[in-house]
Parts: sequence; C-alpha cells; structure tokens
Amino acid sequence: MRVLVVEDEPAIADFVQRGLQSEGFEVVCAPDGIEGERRALQEPVDLVILDLMLPGRDGLEVLAAVRGRKPTLPVIVLSARAEIDDRVAGLDAGATDYLVKPFSFEELAARVRAHLRTPGQHDATKLQAAGIELDLVRRLAMRDGEEVRLSSREFELLAYFMRHPGQALTRERILSAVWGYDFDPGTNVVEVYVGYLRRKLARADRPAPIETVRSVGYRLRDRDPAANPE
Ligand code: CA
Repeated sequence: MRVLVVEDEPAIADFVQRGLQSEGFEVVCAPDGIEGERRALQEPVDLVILDLMLPGRDGLEVLAAVRGRKPTLPVIVLSARAEIDDRVAGLDAGATDYLVKPFSFEELAARVRAHLRTPGQHDATKLQAAGIELDLVRRLAMRDGEEVRLSSREFELLAYFMRHPGQALTRERILSAVWGYDFDPGTNVVEVYVGYLRRKLARADRPAPIETVRSVGYRLRDRDPAANPE
C-alpha cells in the first residue's frame, strides 16, 4: 500500500512518513501543492494525506483536482485549528476524512487503515451504507428510495457516519469532524443531533441504523436487512 503525504512542514512530513513506514506502508512525500497534485494524479497511490495550507497550490485545489480524476482515492485532509472553517468546504470538495493539528500518530494510523480497508466507499458524489444513500452534490438523503429531509448539520453528521460504516465513533471524533471542535464544549449537541437523525431515518418497521455503543459513542450499522449484499 502506497501513501502520498503532501505536507510542507518537514517535521510533520517526517513524523508521518516514519510512522507509516513502521506500520509497513510505502510512503512518498511532496513538499508543495504542485508536486503533490502531480504525484497524486500521475503515480499509483492508494491514499493521500493532504495538508490544506501549502505553497504552490492550496490543498483544496489539489483535492478538487484529485477528485475530478480519481474519484475513489481516499484523501485525509490535515488542517490547523485556525483553518477550521475550511472543514465544511473540504468535506464538500470530497475529503474522505479530517485530522486537526496537532494529532496523534495513532489516530492518523487508525484512519489510514480504516480507509484502505473500505475502497469504493469514497465516491466523489455519493455515499451508500445501511440502506441509506447520500448525494453529496444535490444534498439529498434517501432511505430505501424515499427522501429524508435533513438540515445542513444533520446531513454532515450522517455523511460522517456513512464514511465510517460499522465503526464505533467517539463523541470527541464526531465533534471534531462535524462541528470543528477539537475540545469538548461540554454540551450534549452530539446526542441531540443523533436523536434528530434517528427520528428522521426511522421507518415503522425499522429503527434508524445508528446504534449507541456504550461508553464509546455511536456506530452506523454497516449491514441493513434491505441493503444489497456485496
Ligand atoms: Ca502547511
């Protein structure tokens, strides 16, 4: 498995490269957006780790170019705290996942492994899991072919669950990815929004496929009785 790291801060690039190599990945690095885009498009890579603030070409531009040519390539975006507003734009541009700097190597490695295990889940415009389909361009959510009307935040939350089917997601991870907090604001906003989603996704004969994982957080069941087997 070959991972491309596009990062201009040598210390971070080095930290990520050494760590991933020790996990058995082949790692190539690009120190700016131009080289990063060229390598992502022209070389065989299985996953890209992409910093947002880059010399030469901005990370979001690189992401858009990669999505246009390689719609299923997983891209994990790295962003600094100050760039948090970019996160929603990045999600819309097709990032598979986010990490806010500073991050632990364990967290990065877990996400790299998770995204390499589920190729095909990262289509640029549609997500499908558990009988639910999300059209990221038209901002449409369907359950069993029936439209579900969601607010923008509910949509982002469901998209995050659907990018990680079957995985137990902690409240902290959800807060970070969907609300942009890298701290716990001490509210129950995640619980409240999961409650909204469950109500809107539930059908008479079937509850919403979002389950509570005790003392961890939540998980989208990755197999729904009506879902097509692979
Ligand atoms: Ca940077």
